[in-house]
Amino acid sequence: MSERGVGEGYVGAGEVLEGRLPEGNPARLRGWIHRKFVVGGKIFVRLRDSTGVLQCVIDRSRVGDEVYGAFEEAKRESSIVVEGTVHREPRAPGGWELRVTRGHVVWPSEDFPIRGKEGVEFLLDNRHLWLRSTRMRDILKIKHTVLGALREYYLERGWWEVTPPILTGSAVEGGATLFKVDYFGEPAYLSQSAQLYLEVLIYSLERVWAITPSFRAEKSRTRRHLSEYTHFEVEAAWMNMEDMMRVVEETVEHVVSRVLEDRRRELENLGRDTSALERVKRPFPRLTYTEAVERLRSKGVAMEWGEDFGADEEAALTRDFDRPFFVTLFPKQIKAFYMKEYEQDPRLVKGFDLLAPEGYGEIVGGSEREDSYEKLLARIREEGLDPKDYYWYLDLRRYGSVPHSGYGLGVERLVMWIAGLDHIRDATPFPRFRERLRP
Ligand code: ATP
Ligand code: MG
Repeated sequence: MSERGVGEGYVGAGEVLEGRLPEGNPARLRGWIHRKFVVGGKIFVRLRDSTGVLQCVIDRSRVGDEVYGAFEEAKRESSIVVEGTVHREPRAPGGWELRVTRGHVVWPSEDFPIRGKEGVEFLLDNRHLWLRSTRMRDILKIKHTVLGALREYYLERGWWEVTPPILTGSAVEGGATLFKVDYFGEPAYLSQSAQLYLEVLIYSLERVWAITPSFRAEKSRTRRHLSEYTHFEVEAAWMNMEDMMRVVEETVEHVVSRVLEDRRRELENLGRDTSALERVKRPFPRLTYTEAVERLRSKGVAMEWGEDFGADEEAALTRDFDRPFFVTLFPKQIKAFYMKEYEQDPRLVKGFDLLAPEGYGEIVGGSEREDSYEKLLARIREEGLDPKDYYWYLDLRRYGSVPHSGYGLGVERLVMWIAGLDHIRDATPFPRFRERLRP
């Protein structure tokens, strides 16, 4: 009975709530006192473990004075072990309870500072304690399933997982958001993206992915930017933009259906409208950047061709779609130097973003990569970058260049949308943004 990872000889609260033990069956649980109250001379302890929260009833006539006294004294968040029998009880949350026959307090808790009405900053200061909440536990489990489903998709198709570096000597996404660190007296940067390294690795493995933290010194505080986030990045030789968009589409559909299958209870606890997720089926709609600008203008959004979308423009676009959708073929000046020029219009590059519906906006950014040495060198110079910093990246175009494409997905952005969160900070246990480095 330890299949949920709660330990040999112990049952998980969630297993009891799922009715996996018959009425009257003995059970032993361990966990923490989530809530406690006394009614009619009985102590009602809501025991929390990693699998759920179960009501445990401590009746003096059944457990004796000593055990009763210990639980009477124990405060919320004390760690406990209890033993008894499981019973259907319509008045208990989840319809089951444990009638305790024995038990003890493993380690008492002091007065727990979180009582239920605290504000956002207080909960962030006490993140190390707030992570015990049902809400955070449900989100952590959804993120686990998202990460597993991402890996699963690529493992099943024979792609290779690789480990690019975090400490780097050159920028990928531009200087404004670089975190500089001291590297034995030389300047180095925390990785903003593993892409350039993944491009190196496709010459060895052809189809690769990596999960690494990316760091971006985002100066403005928004609902969807962290300064450290989990970046899921994919790169493949012999694929053009269309091929890669199909990979993205399948990946996102796969992850959403896996979460619906394995984490439905958590989604429901969080109040997520799962019917919006049921609609996430291929093919996803596609529109070009130019069409998107026209569409926005027809809605009265003032925007010039050549400007990048901000959060408001993206949100306005997402209102037209009931599933994720692609925006493609962007003006060169708003995209990174490595994106391939569009053959039919040199003002454009073969980049694509995937935007999540319901106001969420960009979750994936990808492109076909520039494979010509001359064009890449010219773009690096135009951006005011030093070609010497990119000698190794340029070399890839000297020794058997190959058409190739890739994308980067923000795992917390994906979790935020799937779980229906209103802020990205809850999609990660220890959020990092300006003014937040602790705990
Ligand atoms: P945005 O325009 O939303 O700032 P971006 O275009 O800078 O994003 P990319 O460089 O394309 O982002 O990075 C790939 C993906 O990484 C994005 O689609 C997004 O999901 C995620 N991402 C980018 N920056 C952040 C951030 N600061 N916090 C969390 N996720 C991010
Ligand atoms: Mg982008």
